[in-house]
Amino acid sequence: MSDHDVIIVGGAVMGAATAYHLSRLDPAADVVVFERDPTYERSSTLLSDGNVRVQFNLEENILISLHTLEILETFAEDMAVGDIRPEVSARHQGNLFLTDDAGREHALAGLARQQELGCDVMWLDAAEIAERWPAYAAEGVVGGTFGPRDGSVDPHALLQGYRRKAISQGVQFIASEVGTLTADRNRVTGVRLTDGTAVTADVVVNCAGAWSPALARTVGIELPVTPVMRNVYVVDTMVPTRGLPSVFLPSGLYVIPERERTFALGWSQDDDPVGFDFVFDRARFERLLWPELVGHMQAFEALHVASGWAGLYAVNTLDGNAIIGEWPELAGAYVCTGFSGHGFQQAPAVGRHLAELVIGRDPSLDLSRLGPHRVLSGEPLHEHAGRLI
Ligand SMILES: Cc1cc2nc3c(=O)[nH]c(=O)nc-3n(C[C@H](O)[C@H](O)[C@H](O)COP(=O)(O)OP(=O)(O)OC[C@H]3O[C@@H](n4cnc5c(N)ncnc54)[C@H](O)[C@@H]3O)c2cc1C
Repeated sequence: MSDHDVIIVGGAVMGAATAYHLSRLDPAADVVVFERDPTYERSSTLLSDGNVRVQFNLEENILISLHTLEILETFAEDMAVGDIRPEVSARHQGNLFLTDDAGREHALAGLARQQELGCDVMWLDAAEIAERWPAYAAEGVVGGTFGPRDGSVDPHALLQGYRRKAISQGVQFIASEVGTLTADRNRVTGVRLTDGTAVTADVVVNCAGAWSPALARTVGIELPVTPVMRNVYVVDTMVPTRGLPSVFLPSGLYVIPERERTFALGWSQDDDPVGFDFVFDRARFERLLWPELVGHMQAFEALHVASGWAGLYAVNTLDGNAIIGEWPELAGAYVCTGFSGHGFQQAPAVGRHLAELVIGRDPSLDLSRLGPHRVLSGEPLHEHAGRLI
């Protein structure tokens, strides 16, 4: 008999949401989460921008975000433990995706899909954008899609909300590092910790983020997922943030209003460093981001970089989308990775989905196209073949 029913490796937003849903759906399940760093200092979750948007092109990604927006409305009450309520500080400032002529068709296809699925998203032409938000009057754009319910959430509060509630429902979070997964023929059998301890379970869910491919490889699972460093720049400007949405330039550079005249900016590049590098690259802002920003929006000509940080995307090199579900060639081994730049907002639906799969319930959302079978068949499921945010 196994030591536990389910082991989850990695207790950040994905691991914690999965643990919460497992213990909610099956209160008798014995679930343990191994998280090597309870401060989560290097987890992508805490280094994320916390942005939530329904503006995707894939139906699955749109439905996942709609679910997130829904659960945010009652998250503090639903996750309350005693008097402690996780206040996720949801700010629905909206997301504005600017489009140039080349991107118009893709943007309109996404908009049509979002509207069919009931999302509150609209098209604004360039003149309307300039009139609504003069600071965002941009050169070289034909218009953009605006989702007023999109916005930002405090990643730490969301993670801790799931974690605390899961613990209150009987889940154990243990501060230990997993060295390898273990398997016997075509079944997973548990994990071996780096201190040598073997711990057995019928199911192992790999929620180790950018570190998940290395763990998966210990039982022969090859995932097309790479750790890629992304920088976030916090800049003080002359532009008041009041009333402004977050804005995404056609190139993918994004600008998130934070407070008063302060914005957070980022821009994924094809040559961003691959590996476990967390050294913030300040010079890159002046070299790359500032010219791109000012080239479109003069209002950002005067600013200075106040601070910033670097974190890791777990980039799915096959198609930039989540890989979630049981590995077809190893029973009991569940994969949860590859979220690239949009995993934080997917944790509520992904955690529920994995829990449903593990206990054999019909999934609330059909996310089967995001399953790991496509890794084995090599068939990508692209959101946007040319751009990764
Ligand atoms: C700069 C940046 C901005 C982002 N912005 C957004 C955004 O605006 N919106 C959005 O939706 N997404 C965003 N993302 C992506 C998002 O942060 C991730 O997709 C998401 O947080 C992934 O969560 P996770 O739990 O899978 O991984 P992580 O948060 O990385 O957690 C993995 C955990 O596993 C633990 N772990 C690893 N190996 C082991 C081991 N061997 N044993 C035990 N524990 C282990 C780690 O300590 C870590 O806590 C951003 C990411 C970055 C880097």
